[in-house]
Amino acid sequence: MSTLTHSHPKNRPNARLPINDEIVEPLFVALTLVGIAAGLMTTSFGAQARVHLAVNLLTYFVGGFYAVRAIIAALRERKIEVDLLMVIAAIGAAYVDAWTEGAILLFLFSLSNVLQGYAMRRTERAISALMELRPDTVNVRRGDQTVAVALEAVQVGDVVLLRPGDRVPLDGTIQRGSGNFDESAITGESMPVHRSEGAHVLAGTLNTNGALDMLVTKPASESTLARIINMVSEAQSRKASTQSFLDRAEQYYAMSVIVSVLLFIILVPPIFGVNFGENFYKGMVLLTVASPCALVISVPAALLSAIANAARRGVLFKGGAHLEELSKVKVVAFDKTGTLTFGRPELTDVLPQPGVSKDELLEAVARAELSSEHPIARAIMAYATTQGLAPAEPEKFSAVTGMGVRASWDGQETLVGSPRLMTQAGITVPAELLTEMDRLADDGRGTVLLAHRGSRWLGLVTVMDRERPDAAEKLAALRAAGIERVVMLTGDNVRVAEAMGRRLGIDEVHAGLLPEDKLRIVEELGKKYGPVAMVGDGVNDAPALAAASSGIAMGAAGTDAALETADIVLMSDDLGAIGYAVGLSKHTQRVVWQNIAFAMSVVVVLVISTLTIGVPLPLGVVGHEGSTILVVLNGLRLLAYRG
Ligand code: ADP
Ligand code: MG
Repeated sequence: MSTLTHSHPKNRPNARLPINDEIVEPLFVALTLVGIAAGLMTTSFGAQARVHLAVNLLTYFVGGFYAVRAIIAALRERKIEVDLLMVIAAIGAAYVDAWTEGAILLFLFSLSNVLQGYAMRRTERAISALMELRPDTVNVRRGDQTVAVALEAVQVGDVVLLRPGDRVPLDGTIQRGSGNFDESAITGESMPVHRSEGAHVLAGTLNTNGALDMLVTKPASESTLARIINMVSEAQSRKASTQSFLDRAEQYYAMSVIVSVLLFIILVPPIFGVNFGENFYKGMVLLTVASPCALVISVPAALLSAIANAARRGVLFKGGAHLEELSKVKVVAFDKTGTLTFGRPELTDVLPQPGVSKDELLEAVARAELSSEHPIARAIMAYATTQGLAPAEPEKFSAVTGMGVRASWDGQETLVGSPRLMTQAGITVPAELLTEMDRLADDGRGTVLLAHRGSRWLGLVTVMDRERPDAAEKLAALRAAGIERVVMLTGDNVRVAEAMGRRLGIDEVHAGLLPEDKLRIVEELGKKYGPVAMVGDGVNDAPALAAASSGIAMGAAGTDAALETADIVLMSDDLGAIGYAVGLSKHTQRVVWQNIAFAMSVVVVLVISTLTIGVPLPLGVVGHEGSTILVVLNGLRLLAYRG
């Protein structure tokens, strides 16, 4: 029966028992087999009836113990599990004195449970391997000394000592030294990356060769690794809709099997004039072969394996349901910045207006952008630093999402951003500035920003984000995986966006968008073409991620808002992971349907043969449990999917 609904530890009240189920359950299975042998011997040696009965009862006890425990746990939640059908069938067999057959049923049934439990734990282990990436203690610098501190006790601002071969315990930035980091556990990317002073490093990655100091930037509970572990464990509890449908159907199905078999036993002998005992035995076989064990496990066996496979590749599905949704997606919409491009723009031009010096423009822009978290702001700050500028914090600051920033100092307000920001603030942009902006955009200078302070135009600044070199190729792979339409959504200028869209072979480009526009377009795309996946990284993408039928957040270092709202998180910054995820989801759906179809046909074939040619109970059980195990193994194949 399904490990999830039956043998899963949480359904088994083993807290009361001091013994370990993982050892006792197989032991009981073995004892059942011994009991069957002993039962046969007592018969052939003509032992006393009482001895015979005692042996059989003991065999039933060890064979049925775990099933009965699962039944009781389920009944407490007012649910019937298929285990119940099995136990009734075994008891029924005993009633017509077919003890051995009943015992064989219990033996095969519990054996199959143990095997399934083992197989499913393999999947769960693949996921919980992530947990082992967290060390228990961390070497923290305190004055001249290094002290070992428990992971949970390390605080933001502590300096952690990393030696070659150490796993990074928490998210932080390198303060001193450099090294090559193996990030495969988090991002799935196998090439080590060189990181030096100032670089951000993630918990769970491996420092292969550097001796360095790391400044902790997030507490243990908020590290990227901790979040991943949370997401993955939540993923296992959220069910795909096929699965919750099957769970509900199981109840009705199990009930109707019990009722039908009952009617079969009562009605068939008087109507057809057959022997009651023989017919009763047939009823027990029916009860066994009609149980939907294979059906119940068919979906989770596939989904869990797929989730584990994806986690190893740095793709986190937050639930089985998202695999199902992704497999149906027809359109993929990409945010441009940070997704199709690296999201690490660089400042390319500083173009002051006549009468304004380059320094004045740069100083004002840098000061205004000081508190912004936008990649554009980081590009400007990085450039300002190389020019020896260290601007002071402005007196007032506000970021206008998707438009730019407004900051005030010395009694004057500075605005840096798109023409829309200016219009919104009631400032009219002179036509010659707009023409100049278009010219720069056409020239491929990247995103062009206007800077205005007090009542003066200071000039233009351009920042350019490098396109991911493999973007075109990865988009083509996405089409090969069955995506019909690729769309770009961006807050950036139309000209910049369209030029890039042409280069990458994108079907539709929507530019100059605000966050709410992205959401609206995602909804429209959904109506026109079918289910949409939205790929984004920023705060401004969060509404669209939520509206899409599959929200995909890119990059573990993406904003928290994007990570929270997304259904699927790509830990790596690799666009290829999207094609892989789509491929995996389709493959998983195929396996799910194979499993369902196979499980149902076995039930149908066995029920028909029982009614027509008659099937001995042991053979019925072999067919039934065999199909259950095959279904689980078929699901486990997904662990090996490469894509
Ligand atoms: P995308 O949709 O490409 O991720 P955003 O929605 O974040 O882009 O930004 C859209 C536009 O708003 C940018 O192209 C830029 O013109 C302007 N903008 C946003 N944030 C800033 C900022 N901090 N400084 C200047 N301009 C900004
Ligand atoms: Mg973005």
